[in-house]
Amino acid sequence: MDELRKKAGELLEASAVKVIIGYENGSDGKTRALFAEKPEETARLVFDSRCVMNLATYVTKKEVRNKGRIGLVATLPVMRAVIQLASEHQVDDAGLLVIGITPESKMVEFKDLAEVEAFVHRYQIEIDSKQKEMLDKLEKMTPSERWDFWIRELTPCFKCYACRAACPMCYCHRCTVDFNQPQWVPVPSHELGNIEWHIMRAIHLAGRCVDCDACYNACPLAIPLNLLTKRMLLDAKEHLGGYQPSIKADHLMSTYKPDDKDNFII
Ligand code: SF4
Ligand code: SF4
Repeated sequence: MDELRKKAGELLEASAVKVIIGYENGSDGKTRALFAEKPEETARLVFDSRCVMNLATYVTKKEVRNKGRIGLVATLPVMRAVIQLASEHQVDDAGLLVIGITPESKMVEFKDLAEVEAFVHRYQIEIDSKQKEMLDKLEKMTPSERWDFWIRELTPCFKCYACRAACPMCYCHRCTVDFNQPQWVPVPSHELGNIEWHIMRAIHLAGRCVDCDACYNACPLAIPLNLLTKRMLLDAKEHLGGYQPSIKADHLMSTYKPDDKDNFII
């Protein structure tokens, strides 16, 4: 921790970055995002198992970008999000420096995003066994049982969009679901509108979701919406050769290859 605070303070002192985004203690024993702009503010940085928020969600916000080059404290899921954002031309070396935290909670320094990418590629995205068990259970259901499951889970959603706000990949200035002229997706919270919102969200994240679970952690109703994106990850693995964020990647949902499998289109 001292090493992280020292490094962050040095970067601000040398003006190598203008703001450090990391974690600090919040209320109710939780952590929240810290935006340190002065070296002495980095003393508030913390890092432990409570730090599950995906801080990459802030690097596309104009209020943060306007401050100047960002130094981002990044765990492995946050680094994955950064690389995906780089592949979508949302971040670059001029605007972002990553201070990595390895899965063993060690600080790691990177010269540029290419080094971050090389680090990220040392690890595969693995869905944890409890979630995998739930996905297998859903897979074994009949279509009508599965439909009932999702109606039951998604009907209580009251469209607070905390899941969207917590997701680093939901960075559009204005989301389609907020439009009412034309209204593509019903704005009120009701059975059909909720299903449409969640299907749209999951499809939009196919081949982009880095499986950080920030959306699920942000949901006040603990709706298991991350099961939808995890299903997409498994489908990408099964049908399209898998997903690993890469700066120069061909995007899964926007790239056509003549030998793409089409056996799932029936
Ligand atoms: S959809 Fe959820 S799990 Fe996927 S990147 Fe966004 S916040 Fe993370
Ligand atoms: S955070 Fe939960 S309740 Fe809010 S929109 Fe997302 S799924 Fe619905």
